[in-house]
Amino acid sequence: MKNKPGKVYLVGAGPGDPGLITVKGRELLSLADVIVFDALISASLLSALPGKAVLINAGKRAGIHAMEQEEINACIVREALAGNTVVRLKGGDPFVFGRGGEELEALISAGVDFEVVPGVTSAFAVPAYNGIPVTHRDYCSSVHVITGHRRKDAVGIADYEALVKAGGTYIFLMGVAALPEICEGFLRAGLPAYTPAALLEQGTTAAQRRVVSTLSMISEASDNAGIQAPAVLVIGDVCALSEEFGWYEKLPLSGVRVLLTRPEDRMSETARLLKEKGAEVIELPSIRTVEMDPPTELQAALKLHGERPYDWFVFTSQAGVRAFFKAYLKEHDIRELFGVRFAVIGPGTEIALAEYGIRADLMPAVYDAESLGKELSKLLKAGDRVLIPRARLGSEALTAELMKVDGVEICDVPVYETVYHASGIVDIRKLLEDKVQKIAVFTSASTVRGFAAAAETCRADIIGLTAVCIGTQTQREAEKYGMLTCVSEQATIASLIVRVEETAALMKE
Ligand code: SAH
Repeated sequence: MKNKPGKVYLVGAGPGDPGLITVKGRELLSLADVIVFDALISASLLSALPGKAVLINAGKRAGIHAMEQEEINACIVREALAGNTVVRLKGGDPFVFGRGGEELEALISAGVDFEVVPGVTSAFAVPAYNGIPVTHRDYCSSVHVITGHRRKDAVGIADYEALVKAGGTYIFLMGVAALPEICEGFLRAGLPAYTPAALLEQGTTAAQRRVVSTLSMISEASDNAGIQAPAVLVIGDVCALSEEFGWYEKLPLSGVRVLLTRPEDRMSETARLLKEKGAEVIELPSIRTVEMDPPTELQAALKLHGERPYDWFVFTSQAGVRAFFKAYLKEHDIRELFGVRFAVIGPGTEIALAEYGIRADLMPAVYDAESLGKELSKLLKAGDRVLIPRARLGSEALTAELMKVDGVEICDVPVYETVYHASGIVDIRKLLEDKVQKIAVFTSASTVRGFAAAAETCRADIIGLTAVCIGTQTQREAEKYGMLTCVSEQATIASLIVRVEETAALMKE
């Protein structure tokens, strides 16, 4: 039991695109001790959750059935009474058919403090991502949001006569199952059969699809297209604008789900750039770098450096640079490195090194281990000593090249390790089974191994998955798992993104 009182924040997560959560909501997610989320919360939002919170899936319990509303109420009350900051994360807006009111009643009767953070509701956002403005001066002057889910005690879904009389745009959530009944109701109440109607499936995600038709035809059109929940039904003249106003599908990576493996402790620039192009990005936090503590082998090597200095320090990753300097500066002074020359594998590592005030003396034209080894070999002579502080089990391509030079001493010391762990929050299998274009993106051989390990934990099949890789070594690793691979022209993030776009364009053809 903590001694501060707990509090529950009822937070709207938005309709799917993780960019559509509010700033306040995102801040609370990073502060939360516990996050209780629903089935509607998108994998791309879940996978990018910041912070340290315990995650509770209220959409599924023990992988089988959904928690009952009473169980959810009891769960948030219990967590708050234990002194936790609880975020109750709900799809769209928590008060728009989200049973947010019922959860607040439970909190009030238990005397738990709460706040509500509204969200972007799917009722308006999903039409927007499909080029449908829910109101437009030339077409309508009101918009009605209605549930298509009938309570057991209710007579019908809606009072269609009253709705037709009021006019405007009609938006139904949870309306897929009752679609024929809803259309019938409007037709009987006198809404013209030719009134435009649209059914919008999985809006704001890579799986977004729409069917635009008329009131009398939409049900059949939806069956033919196999539209399933969750979908938003829109009835009204504004639906006719979707062709002209549709913008999401025009982004180069719309409709593409990119699976990305990233080190857990770093923000992903790659993810940001892919999202900018319209991709749905699922970040699988399945590799983590763990620094050696204490870095015994490095300490021994540095002791030797004091006696007989190394001529070259070679860095093959940003993590390596950081781990090295963290350990080094604990016991040494930067001036002891006077006279040492520095080689880096590529621009990212070069920048990391520059953060410690050191300019690299060598960076190969092609940013991989083998090229680095080859170019450095040309500068080495017998008796030279090379220190390589890097990941345990680093690429042999580098040392193999260096060893070709006679009389060179190589000291390959591990300063960090890469640990794999599946996140457990996102179901990779389901993500791979969806009928959307999927591309896995790998920035190192270890991200491939991390992804494969995470996929295995949920028995997801990755054979034949399209993979875009940053270098040939990464590509070879992905090939081992049976993925269909291609490689970026250069080993830079920018070049990688270009290759993802080209690959997506080929897949769309
Ligand atoms: N509180 C939520 C709605 C919950 S009811 C909100 O404000 O959005 C669940 C219904 O919302 C689904 O049946 C579907 O009609 C709609 N919905 C939610 N997310 C959706 C999405 N990404 N695409 C299409 N419909 C969605």
